[in-house]
Parts: sequence; C-alpha cells; structure tokens
Amino acid sequence: MSTASAWSVALLGMEGTLVEVEAAIGGGLPRTVLVGLPDAALYEARDRCRAAVAGAGLAWPNQLLTINLTPASLPKAGSHYDLAIVSAVLVASGIVPRTIAASSVLVGELGLDGRVREVHGVLPALLAARGEGFTTAIVAAGQVAEAELVDGLTIWGVSCLADLIEVLHGRPVLGQAARSTAPTPQLPAYLPDLADVRGQPDACWALEVAAAGGHHIFLHGAPGVGKSMLAERLPGVLPDLRNDEALEVSAVHSLAGRPLTGGLIRRPPYSNPHHNASMAAMIGGGARVARPGAISVAHRGVLFLDEVAEFSARVLDALRTPMETGKVTIARSVSQVCYPARFQLVMAANPCPCGMLGVPGRNCSCTPMSVRRYNERLSGPILDRIDIHHRLLPSRLSLAEAPAGEPSAKVAERVALARQRQARRLAGTPWRLNGEVPGAELRKLPQAQGMSLLDDAVRCGRLSARGIDKVLRIGWTLADLDGTDRITRTHLASALGLRQDSWRSAA
Ligand SMILES: [Zn+2]
Repeated sequence: MSTASAWSVALLGMEGTLVEVEAAIGGGLPRTVLVGLPDAALYEARDRCRAAVAGAGLAWPNQLLTINLTPASLPKAGSHYDLAIVSAVLVASGIVPRTIAASSVLVGELGLDGRVREVHGVLPALLAARGEGFTTAIVAAGQVAEAELVDGLTIWGVSCLADLIEVLHGRPVLGQAARSTAPTPQLPAYLPDLADVRGQPDACWALEVAAAGGHHIFLHGAPGVGKSMLAERLPGVLPDLRNDEALEVSAVHSLAGRPLTGGLIRRPPYSNPHHNASMAAMIGGGARVARPGAISVAHRGVLFLDEVAEFSARVLDALRTPMETGKVTIARSVSQVCYPARFQLVMAANPCPCGMLGVPGRNCSCTPMSVRRYNERLSGPILDRIDIHHRLLPSRLSLAEAPAGEPSAKVAERVALARQRQARRLAGTPWRLNGEVPGAELRKLPQAQGMSLLDDAVRCGRLSARGIDKVLRIGWTLADLDGTDRITRTHLASALGLRQDSWRSAA
C-alpha cells in the first residue's frame, strides 16, 4: 500500500484547526472513499479532484483509494480542501515528490477543468497554519496578496492543477516571480466628507459625540434631510484600526468572501444591509457553510440600518445580544460558530409612513393608527440600547445659503483626542469607550456635578431611571471632548438634549 499526506485548515468561525489529509492506495477493488466527517461540499471534492486529474492527462488510482481527514471528530465544511486532497493523491500515486506536499498548507478549490478557484477565509486559515509552525502555503493565484498579509510564510500561487504539480516539484510557476510581493493599498477615489453636509450643524455635532464615545445613534426625520449622508460619514471621523484590530477585521472580511487585494483593512468598515436582508445575511449563517453576516462585516466599524422600521422584528431582536457581548454565536447542525460583532449602530427612520409628521409647514397624510403601528415596529429593548436620539429638521436655508459643514479631518482630530482621554480613564477595565461601559460600572465613576438636574428630569417624567445611565455616558463623552475629566452641569444639560428627541414623541 502506498500512502501520503498533505495539510489544510478547518475553519470554525474565526478559529482555524490544521487538518491532515491522508491518501492510501491499494488493498481493495477500485473505488474512492472519503472519511473524516466531511460535509456535502467536501464529499464532492472526490469528483472534482478526479475530473481535474483526468483533465490534466494523468491517471486516477485504479485501486482502492482511501482519503482520510484528521482529526476525524472535527466537522469539516467547504471546498477548500481540494488542493490538499489532490496533492496527497498525486504523492501517493508517485506523480510528485513527497517533501513539499507534506510541509506546506494548501487552501483552494479545484474546478472540474483543473482551474484553481479562490475560497473564503484564506487569511484566518493561514494565520492558524503559521501558529502551528508552517512556513509555506499554496493558494489560488488570485489570493496571493491576501495570503501575504500573514508575515513569515512563503506563498505559492497556483492557477491550475498543472501549476500545482510544478510547485510540488519545487519548480517556480511561470509568472510567479513577476507578481508583486507587496499588496498596493487601494485608496478609495472619493471619501464622503462631513463638509458636504450643509445646514445640519446640530446633527453633525450629535454624530461627533457618537463617534467620540462609540455611542449608538438614532437619526430620525423627514426623507431627504441627510440621515444617510451623515451615517456614511461616520467611519471617516473614526480613528484608524490598531494592528490587531486590522488583522481581526480583515480575517472576518476574508471569511465573508470580500477580496483583500488592497492589503489589511486599516479603516473602520461600513456595512449597510437592506431592510429586506435575511436573518443569515444580517447575523451570519447560511445553508451549507456558515458565513459572517452584515453585523460582523461591521465589526470595529459602523452598521447603518436605514429605514430601520422596515426591518423584520426578528432580525432587529437578534441584534440585542451582539450589542451587549460584541459577538454573535450561530448554531449549526453539528456545531456552533462564533464571529466578532462589535459595531457602532446608526439607525435612521422617517417620523411616520409618509415621512411628514411634525415637519414644519407640511401635512402628514397618515392615520393615527398607522403612525402608532409604525412606531411600534421598533421594540423598546433596541431603542433602550441607543444612547443618542437625534431628530433632523429640514434646513431653513437654501443649499446655497447654508454654510458647509466642518471637514471630517478636523472632527476626526477632536474624536481622536476624546478617545485617548477615555482610554486613559478606562485603562484596566474591559472597556475603551464610554458607549461600552455598563450602567452599574458607570455609577462607580466619580459622580457628576449637577446630578439634581437629572433627578428633576426623572421626577417630571422626562427621563427613566435607565435613561440616567445614558445621560451620564454621553456626559462623560462631552467632558472628554471638552478635554476635562469632570462632568459639569453644562455637560449633563447638553447630554439630556441628545437624549430628548424621542422618535415616538414625534407622534
Ligand atoms: Zn405621515
């Protein structure tokens, strides 16, 4: 009997585990058996590999071929084991030498015609391989730039089975040397800037406070007042991601199948799922292989839900746990997977179905009943997790008259300073931003001056006991933006203002 092995990686959420693919030829009637807890896509690997080998004019073993994936207890999903499987078979058949196949990690799918296809999750897979001491990896040619984000690995890119055979022989693939060794960062041609937002200084201020303290924010107002414009400008005033964050965010995007051709993602991402988005598209999941959803693509960045009242209640409810824990767990038939999901939420909604309720000089055509139903679409628990509620009114000035907003670069400077101040104050705690600090912890911080202001607001019913925590949280951010470590009565009064614009009170 002739045996051989090659290596690939099983991905369970963000966690990669090395998988040894063993091929044994001989000892029975000609057939191919795949063992080791494969899923349907992986089971089809047998047919893909056989077709690709035949297409290259090579013989598939004409005896019993057993392919075993270990550890056997680990569920294995997806089609990225093809390169490892075909390599083990080629070595066992004596077509290629043993050394390179046995010492490299292989991640890629084979087409029936022998082409090597790109797969999701190359970055997290190779991070796991490096962690296990591997120094060489073989991936699809189109994913070399992504693979090279993992320092300390020699990467071979292959575009077809013939390339793979060359590489396994230790011969450079034609064109391999010509490819660039360092990915060129791609700068977007146009970055939305706050300077474009005219005539909404209060809304820009609310957005700055949200950015500074990492607060979730709800923008509501008539159609066309600039809610989406503001939301898409939030990532532009947030600081760059730290190195560990950039690697983590890039790994999530790799799993979501977003190309990483521009190098590591160093800016906070922006994700704006449509209100028709399915549960799997939003939270993560999928029929065959689990993929991260929009909330994980927004990890360390901004999740924008436009027309939030149109989202299904089930989808919105599923945001509650990730908003508290910063991660999402998806139950699968044989396992569960976990993805990071620490996002800053921006929600936007019209005041009523027709959008004109409470807009000066305009008439709302909705019935009181339809307004009530519309209002009830957002559950209390979600609204409860939003620190800042801001109502946008149409600017009274014409576009030509309204002064341009402050440029994002200026706002970003203030946000960065306020965040540094928070990081110093919260050093030694699990939190880095005011928006993340739970109410109970907040009350342990030095008490603010002028708390009587909040007591009064509670007494006259303008503020709930839970609301006090939020006002304090925003108060801290206002103090941070002011460059001081004490909350004053003025900060609390402004913080109250950022809470008062309830969506429902428009009714
Ligand atoms: Zn209306």
